[in-house]
Amino acid sequence: TEFVSANDLAALMNVSVNEVIKVCMQLGMFVSINQRLDAEAITIIADEFGYSVEFITSEDEQALEVTIEENEEDLVDRAPIVTIMGHVDHGKTSLLDYIRNANVTAGEAGGITQHIGAYSVKTEGGRTVTFLDTPGHEAFTAMRARGAKVTDVVIIVVAADDSVMPQTKEAINHAQAAGSPIIIALNKIDKPGANPDKVREELAQMNILVEEWGGKYQSQEVSAKTGAGIPDLLEKVLLEAELLELKANPDRKAVGTVIEASLDKGRGYVATVLVQTGTLKIGDVVLAGSHYGRVKAMTDHRGRKMKEAGPSTPVQLLGLDGAPQAGDKFQVMESEREAREIASNRAQLQREQSLRTRKHITLDEIGRRL
Ligand code: GDP
Ligand code: MG
Repeated sequence: TEFVSANDLAALMNVSVNEVIKVCMQLGMFVSINQRLDAEAITIIADEFGYSVEFITSEDEQALEVTIEENEEDLVDRAPIVTIMGHVDHGKTSLLDYIRNANVTAGEAGGITQHIGAYSVKTEGGRTVTFLDTPGHEAFTAMRARGAKVTDVVIIVVAADDSVMPQTKEAINHAQAAGSPIIIALNKIDKPGANPDKVREELAQMNILVEEWGGKYQSQEVSAKTGAGIPDLLEKVLLEAELLELKANPDRKAVGTVIEASLDKGRGYVATVLVQTGTLKIGDVVLAGSHYGRVKAMTDHRGRKMKEAGPSTPVQLLGLDGAPQAGDKFQVMESEREAREIASNRAQLQREQSLRTRKHITLDEIGRRL
C-alpha cells in the first residue's frame, strides 16, 4: 500500500529533498522528488545519511491490501463522499450548515447537531450524499499526505461577489492533484453585488471552463443564506458520482479512514471514522493506526445510536484505547489479540521514528554552532 518517495525519505530523515537527490546523483542514481524508491535504494541512501533501515512490510499491511480486492458481484452502489473547499469567507461553513440543516427529516429534527467532522444527508430524490467537514484544506492535505484518499468529489466554493482568490486556486490544485472531480459552487448569489460571470471568467483564465461555456466543469449558482440552488448542486454531485460508478461491498469486515479523534471527558476516546467498504458493527474489534479496541457504541452526527454502519457512512465510535490520527486507516480485525499486537508494533515504530528525528535535529544544531 505505502510507498516511499525521495521526498518521503527526506522527511523521515529530516533533511531536505535536494540533499537526498544530490546524494543519489553522487551514487549514480537519478531520482526525481516524487519517484518511488525501491528497498535497495532506500537502504543505500539512508546509509549515506547515517541511518539504518528496518522494513516493516508487516503481514497485516499485506492482509489489508489483499482483503480489499473484491468480487464484482459483491459490489453495490455507495454514496459519494464530498469535501467543500475554497477561500476563507466564501461560505464553506455556511454551505455545509445549510445542507445539514435543510436535509433533516421530520423525525430527527429534535436531535442536537454536534460537530463530528462528517455527516450524511438525504437529497430530495432520496439519495445519500456524505460530506466531510474538515477544517479547510489543511486537513485534506494532511490526510492525503498520509495516503488517505477519501473524497470522491470536491466542491470548490467561490463567492460570486468576490473573485477567485489564492486559496481558491490552492483548493483547485489540491483537488486536481488528488484526481478528484470538481464542481464549482458560485455562492452568495443573493447579494446585490454578485457577478457570477466575472468569476466564471476568472476560472476560465486558469483553465477551469464551466459547462455553460462549453467546458467540462459543472457549476451551480447557490446561496448558502437562502438555500437557492442547493438542491441543484446536490443533483450535480450525484451526477458526477454516477460517472465514477462508486461501489463497495457491504458484506465484509469494515475498512475505512479516521476523520478525527479526541479524548472526551466521561466518554473516553471518541473517533469519527468513515466506513469505506464493509459494515462496521457494535462489538467489532477495530485497529486504527496505532490504536485498537472493541466498538462499544456508535452514533451519527445527531448523536443517535447506530448498530451498524455500511459503506460511505461516517460514525462516531467509542471503544478505542487512544486517539488515532486523522487519515489513519482503520480495519476490523479477526481477534483482539492480533489487533493489540499490530497496534503496539506501530506505536513502537512511531516512538523510534520520533526519537531518531529528535536525535538528528540535536546533532544538526550542534553542527551549526560549531
Ligand atoms: P468560510 O470561511 O468559507 O467557512 O465562510 P463562512 O461560511 O464562514 O461565511 C463567511 C461569511 O459570509 C459569513 O458572514 C456568512 O454569513 C456569509 N455568507 C456565506 N454564504 C452566504 C450567502 O450565500 N449569502 C450571503 N449573503 N452571505 C453568505
Ligand atoms: Mg468556515
